[in-house]
Amino acid sequence: MPDTHRIVPGQPLDLNRLATRADTFHDNRSEAEREFKKLRKQLAEYQFRLYSEGKQELLVVLQAMDAGGKDSTIRRVFQGVNPQGVRVTSFKAPSKRELARDYLWRVHRQVPAKGMIRIFNRSHYEDVLIVRVDSLVPEAVWRSRYEQINDFEKLLADTGTTILKFFLHVSKHEQKERLEARLSDPTRHWKFSADDLEKRKQWNDYMAAYADALSLCSTPYAPWYAIPADQKWYRNLAIARILVSTLAKMDPQYPPAEEGLEERRVI
Ligand code: ATP
Ligand code: MG
Repeated sequence: MPDTHRIVPGQPLDLNRLATRADTFHDNRSEAEREFKKLRKQLAEYQFRLYSEGKQELLVVLQAMDAGGKDSTIRRVFQGVNPQGVRVTSFKAPSKRELARDYLWRVHRQVPAKGMIRIFNRSHYEDVLIVRVDSLVPEAVWRSRYEQINDFEKLLADTGTTILKFFLHVSKHEQKERLEARLSDPTRHWKFSADDLEKRKQWNDYMAAYADALSLCSTPYAPWYAIPADQKWYRNLAIARILVSTLAKMDPQYPPAEEGLEERRVI
């Protein structure tokens, strides 16, 4: 079940034909919400074990079109997890300082430490998404990045990092509704940017760029998942299932007690 939305490496992808709705995967929202709540508890317990063990780490990459739900995924899925063990890094347009280095420099500095879960809200994939769509570098430069990204992620995986990458797949229609909701709700005006409308005009270019990123960089050691994300209840469930089953495989253990602990008395 956790593999339902996994992208097969190298498989040519047409994102317009890939589900944005739960339809064929789930049809019972209240059941899904019940399962999700259980999974969230398990996630919190696994995080506690991971932190106490301090030997392995998990990197979660989130990518989506604007209003695709990255923020609410973080808020909802990680609700209840000890904030000490989870960090979020949001990647914005690179600064002058960052642009003076290779594009992975700022990313490598943010990878999770042992025992930690790190969430990337956008990521190095922007360097083959917006950078490609807006032609911010020549084609030969962004084309060479898929392989570089795979090598980079291999290095992380080989040195103990488990990597999961989620593309929150929303339909163009759903994005319209969400952007309109931002426009009509004063408490959400801050989330709206005119830039989102410009990017919406480039929708097809973005879908083509996402298709390549997902298909060329879904690897056995750092898989991509395309999550149907029009309905938040299913998105949350699908992501929580993958997180929990991955953590179960990582199988973090509480460290053994120090020797002679049973004879100790608190006085
Ligand atoms: P929200 O979804 O809440 O609007 P956001 O992630 O879109 O959050 P913004 O500050 O609106 O945050 O946008 C960040 C911008 O930075 C995005 O447009 C993204 O494409 C851009 N960006 C991120 N990384 C790069 C990069 N390497 N090169 C160029 N632009 C980048
Ligand atoms: Mg934005």
